Amino acid sequence: MLLPHRHLSELGEPVDLPPMPSGVEWEGDIAFLDRDGVLNIGSEDYINGVSELDVFPESGQSVGKIRSAGFRVCIVTNQSPIGRGLWGHQILASVNSALQKALLMQDPDAHLDLILYSPYAPWEGAWSRKGRPGMLQAGRQLFDAAKEGSGVEHFDYGPDYTVRDEGRSFMVGDRRADDEAGVAHGVRTFRCDGRTGLVDVLSRVLDDSDTGDY
Ligand SMILES: [Mg+2]
Repeated sequence: MLLPHRHLSELGEPVDLPPMPSGVEWEGDIAFLDRDGVLNIGSEDYINGVSELDVFPESGQSVGKIRSAGFRVCIVTNQSPIGRGLWGHQILASVNSALQKALLMQDPDAHLDLILYSPYAPWEGAWSRKGRPGMLQAGRQLFDAAKEGSGVEHFDYGPDYTVRDEGRSFMVGDRRADDEAGVAHGVRTFRCDGRTGLVDVLSRVLDDSDTGDY
């Protein structure tokens, strides 16, 4: 089924949850965010290194506001250049670390609680590659386990996944594969404009009565 990978950790290790903004309790809601075209400017030719990373100016504040509204943030990003043999996990790790650093410079509450990625090429048929919902399934289980201070040894993963309560959780992306993954996972799903990113839909995702675009 080709499980997702996780930034700087083995997938199933306990998530070391960063602090929520002051006075905010986390009750299980997750903001699943695509990366490229949502937090930083995307590119048809991928983001191939830190020098190509261009973070939108409002991304940090947007992530901070989402976390202040009680959500944990889970990045779910397709990164097929690894599976295509263009570059390796270290390049991606350096970009993800630079992104996290830039967001925290913009807003000290803009922690990315969990970063998952699918390194597989499209022809590998990975369940973790969006439009399939594998990264969202894994993210849900890692957060649920982290509440108990534990990790996940065996993931419930695949088309027979047992649906868990997603509460107010939502998915934001800028492409059809993001929409498909969010819908397949059963969360509110929003399409942002990849030229402006997350801020484009920020007021909508924070409005509990907004059921999304799909
Ligand atoms: Mg994207």
